[in-house]
Order: sequence, then structure tokens, then C-alpha cells
Amino acid sequence: IQNLSKTYKMGGETLKALDEVILTVNKGDFLAIVGPSGSGKSTLMNVIGCLDSPTSGEYWLDGEEVSKLKENKLADIRNRKIGFIFQGFNLLAKMTAIENVELPLIYRGIPAKQRREFAAEALRKVGLEERLHHRPTELSGGQQQRVAIARALAGNPPILLADEPTGALDTKTGKEVMGFMRELNGMGHTVVLITHDPGISRQAERVVTIRDGRLNEEGAGRIELLASD
Ligand code: ATP
Ligand code: MG
Repeated sequence: IQNLSKTYKMGGETLKALDEVILTVNKGDFLAIVGPSGSGKSTLMNVIGCLDSPTSGEYWLDGEEVSKLKENKLADIRNRKIGFIFQGFNLLAKMTAIENVELPLIYRGIPAKQRREFAAEALRKVGLEERLHHRPTELSGGQQQRVAIARALAGNPPILLADEPTGALDTKTGKEVMGFMRELNGMGHTVVLITHDPGISRQAERVVTIRDGRLNEEGAGRIELLASD
């Protein structure tokens, strides 16, 4: 990520949510981005995750400059390369655990039978093989987050992005979820997680801080997010 900025125009005001960000993430990194509320963490995560485009600057992902791509191209990259984990889990209430995990696989055009297999395998990885047909309300918060992690994992994306993954969990369950994130990193997934909790970021291998849209602690240079070579 090279000199990347994101501005929002609100009424007559311009707000710089990201201000000339420079960041390199290498394949296999476990990076935490820490900063206070409103500092630009989710905005940066959305750009890294190809959910949003910057106003200016460059974003190279696996050697491809993606910052100016149109939504359909971005969606394709997102579906192939990125798994998302959110603070609120974002599970669909009417669907069972396995149906929730299958959802992104539908977008990737994977046939039904294979979807079931991949989803069951992902739920096994997070220790929920006994809960395949439970709905979110029939699961604890920690179990719901594990379903969300399984959903992020199901297509085996090289990059996992987590926005406050432990924010809605108690300390013990949060630690468990961080344990999973570390295991997944050990299995080769590149993990970028954002948090305002220094206790959580300490468990990451590498930490950068963001304040008023400015990232610190990284040097200059052309950066590529190498994830699936
Ligand atoms: P939190 O820890 O509370 O989730 P954050 O670090 O994730 O905060 P962002 O959501 O990235 O913060 O927001 C950064 C800044 O950009 C904030 O000042 C916010 O009000 C502003 N902002 C975010 N999204 C938009 C938008 N769609 N339109 C206008 N302003 C926005
Ligand atoms: Mg946020």
C-alpha cells in the first residue's frame, strides 16, 4: 500500500479517514492494526479487503494494482483471496451453522455437494463438528464467532481479515478465538486483524498503529501484499 488516502465529503467538510498510508504485508504475516475509535481502522480494512476503493494512492495485491478496479473485478478478487471476520459475527439468523459457512462458497460458484464438504471441514477445523445444524441463537457467542471464522475459511482464502474479532467476547473466549487465528496463521494464512485492545494486539507477530488516518512505524517503499504465489 503506497501513499493511500481515503477522504469523505460530508456537507462542506472533507474528512481524511486515511492519510497517505504506507504499509507492506507479506505472505504469512500476522499483523495487528491498533488505534482508537474513528482512527480509520475499518476504512483501511475495507480497502485491504477490496470492499472499498481509496481516493488516491496505490494498492498492490499479488502484483496487481487493485485500487482503481471496478466493483465486479474487485468482487472476484475478494471472493478468491479474502476471508472476513467481523466483531458482530454477521451470521444469518435463519440459517444453520453449516448453511452460513456455505454462503460464500455459493458466490464462488462451487457445486452444492462440494460446498457441504468444504463447509463441514471448515467447521471441523474450529471444533464445531457437533454443531453443524444449530442456528446462531442456539450457539454461544464464542461458538458463533467460530462459525464466522469457519465461514471465512471455507474457500481456503490466502488472506484472513478480522475487524475486532474479539470485541463482542469475554476475555477467555477472546483468547480462544485469538488462539484459532494464530493456528490459522501457522497453517499459512496471512492474517490482518484490527483491534483497539492492546491485550489482543500483543498476541500478533507485528503491530502497526493508526491515529487520525495516519499509520506509523513503517518505512517507505513500494509494497506488495503477497498472498497466493
Ligand atoms: P472504530 O474503532 O470505532 O470501529 P475505526 O478506526 O474503525 O473506528 P473508521 O470506521 O475507519 O474508524 O472511520 C474513520 C473515520 O471515517 C471516522 O471519523 C468516521 O466517522 C469516518 N467515516 C467512516 N466511514 C464513513 C463514511 N462512509 N462516510 C463518511 N465518513 C465516514
Ligand atoms: Mg471500526
